[in-house]
Amino acid sequence: MKIICIGRNYANHAAELGNQVPERPVVFLKPQSAILSHKHPFYIPSWTQDVHHEVELVVKINRLGKTISEAHAPRYYSEVGLGLDFTARDIQSELKAKGHPWERAKAFDGSAVVGDFVSLEALGKPIEDLQFTLHNHEQEVQHGHSGDMLFSVNRLIAEVSQFMTLKMGDLLFTGTPAGVGSVHAGDRLRGTLEGREMFAVNIR
Ligand code: ZN
Repeated sequence: MKIICIGRNYANHAAELGNQVPERPVVFLKPQSAILSHKHPFYIPSWTQDVHHEVELVVKINRLGKTISEAHAPRYYSEVGLGLDFTARDIQSELKAKGHPWERAKAFDGSAVVGDFVSLEALGKPIEDLQFTLHNHEQEVQHGHSGDMLFSVNRLIAEVSQFMTLKMGDLLFTGTPAGVGSVHAGDRLRGTLEGREMFAVNIR
């Protein structure tokens, strides 16, 4: 399986990092080895001084597909979840400055927290109307609404499947809203989707 990630998919997050709003989705990958079960703590790697949390709506692909149209995209998922795209921001800034790929900053072990999944049917809401939050201990640090995405989930599936076959079990991280920030040992990050707790991760 692969983890497909979208960068700069919320205008307020692009602005906070001083990035332009893209004309087409910014796509990158994380390997399967990046997955951190949400039952385990996250250990800040020794080679970075600035790991940021990015809470994101995660869509689980449930069938094989290629060159999927936006209209047919809803057939390719039925469950959504919440995850964290941990990013070594200091390393990413160096790589961006050199025009290099981001993998060192984005694809490291533990950098993809994957929480629980829930069916859209159980949520009783369309995918364009989902609220999610990230708390550090009791304080809310990020709040997102899927309707604010620059590129909708269906549009993302259409775009990505033009050049990459989607397979059952692939995960699509759909980008983070504003509020990203550094994590520190002792933090406890808790994500909710439509009021349901989807993950809780202790930072060490
Ligand atoms: Zn992200």
